[in-house]
Amino acid sequence: MNEADSEEMLLHLFGFGYQKTEVLSEADLVLINTCTIRDHAEHRALSYLGRLAKWKAEKQGRKIIFAGCAAERLGKKVQKRFPQADIVCGAKSLDKFPEILERSSLFKPVNTTENPKENTKKITGQVSIMRGCSCKCAYCIVPYVRGEASSIPPEIVLENCRNKAQNYPEIMLLGQTVNAYNYKGFTFSKLLAEVCKIPEVKRVRFLSPHPVFIKEDFYKVVQDNPKIARHLHLPLQSGSTKVLKDMKRLYTAEEYLQIIKNLKRLDFLISTDIIVGYPTETEEDFKRTLNLVKKCGFSFAYCFKFSPRAGTPAAEIPEISQEIVENRLNILLNEIRECSAVAYKSRIGKTEEILFETKNSGRTSGNLWYRTTTPKAIGSIEQILIKDSNGKILR
Ligand code: SF4
Repeated sequence: MNEADSEEMLLHLFGFGYQKTEVLSEADLVLINTCTIRDHAEHRALSYLGRLAKWKAEKQGRKIIFAGCAAERLGKKVQKRFPQADIVCGAKSLDKFPEILERSSLFKPVNTTENPKENTKKITGQVSIMRGCSCKCAYCIVPYVRGEASSIPPEIVLENCRNKAQNYPEIMLLGQTVNAYNYKGFTFSKLLAEVCKIPEVKRVRFLSPHPVFIKEDFYKVVQDNPKIARHLHLPLQSGSTKVLKDMKRLYTAEEYLQIIKNLKRLDFLISTDIIVGYPTETEEDFKRTLNLVKKCGFSFAYCFKFSPRAGTPAAEIPEISQEIVENRLNILLNEIRECSAVAYKSRIGKTEEILFETKNSGRTSGNLWYRTTTPKAIGSIEQILIKDSNGKILR
């Protein structure tokens, strides 16, 4: 979501004569788009903002925009503590970003007919389809900083997809709970089917689905549309039904496993997010998570130590000792590495559809990496027989 938001903000900045650079000394403006999902992310953003005071003082006219979720959470406190920030634009105000720039006397719109050069790899075009989240997971700050879920009208989404498809073979639909999309009865599955009808779109992905919104019509639309990638990043968070209940995740471990079984029948590979050391997680609960991980056979997982976010119910519960959490995390990471190697090796002997992102490498529909010594056209799709894998890449 943040990458997509950054891209949108950049497009608006292009209208004020800016071009993108990754080199700080060349820059006249730094845009910091922040995350607040974990304490660590917020600290890093703030410490970067702190260090930029020196950069700003070195040349007159340099500007700083501090945007996104940490900006939303901290609000005016940021400008008070870091006067070098010229504009603070919270996540809920990103829709009004162009007006905020116009209102500020710091920026003057320019008339430009030239499109600034894009540095992207031109493989995946990201399209936001909804904003915010109406789930209230007990540990999560997102609903507080992004607001309630609201879906973008399908005609706007499809127009954006058509535009992106001119440059990108793969479309990634984005939303905090992307499959909760519903615009006046126009469901996520209907939207997926419509995106697949765009001739230039070769592959469709989406992030992040919530298990509770996976319904029968989703399986049906997948079967009817081979363009939908056979990979789902489906956050699990815990394999213990008791902890899931404490987290207010709205599904049980058994229900999650059933979804995985349904998806595997359709040849899906599944990756996930897992939180280790949730304050109510016992050793028994953690073992349940390990067991479920083994049963699900994830191709990949982001595993996080629980990070209390002030203002959320979970932050009120005393934390588990860090030593225990660290230990559990290491055990889980080892398990995930093994699962991932198994997922790679399970594809040997199968024909995979590879979308090439470089001349020599690309991703399968199931989101595994493939490498070849025979150069291919970037952005092309080919059916390739997998001969080997070292557990980290297909060949
Ligand atoms: S569904 Fe995701 S974004 Fe929404 S509250 Fe839960 S963890 Fe946060």
